[in-house]
Amino acid sequence: MDNCIFCKIANGIIPSATVYEDDDFRAILDIAPAHKGHIIVLPKSHTDNLYSLDDEVAAKALPLVKRLAKALKAATGCDGINILQNNEPAAGQTVFHLHIHIVPRYEGDGILPVWPQGSYADGEAAALAAEIASKLD
Ligand code: AMP
Ligand code: ZN
Repeated sequence: MDNCIFCKIANGIIPSATVYEDDDFRAILDIAPAHKGHIIVLPKSHTDNLYSLDDEVAAKALPLVKRLAKALKAATGCDGINILQNNEPAAGQTVFHLHIHIVPRYEGDGILPVWPQGSYADGEAAALAAEIASKLD
């Protein structure tokens, strides 16, 4: 996609601090890291978000994220790692080329909010689970 900055970075047109590259992905250091070492994994083929991600690329993504997470932990000595992937502005997406965040975490760093713990009325969870299941394609 011509005007997509992550297409240009993923395909090497714009330079980046590259951690890993193969035919399908480039993993780079985020330019504004939550902590130093924060990685984002970019597919080389443009897709706006998860909804339209090619299944073959999707199948390769998690094994790569796992490898990168282990390397990040070994390199930084971080205490934990979050994997985040934002879809649409309501979920915090700001660059509309799918990317997966690998964020090193440290005990007590408090950099990410913990969501409130909601609850379901009797039967509500089962009904909603069935409703979601009915939408699977
Ligand atoms: P999101 O909010 O999930 O869309 O995340 C976008 C991420 O891309 C942010 O963490 C930005 O810091 C990062 N980012 C934006 N532009 C660049 C760039 N040129 N190089 C590296 N990371 C970038
Ligand atoms: Zn793109």
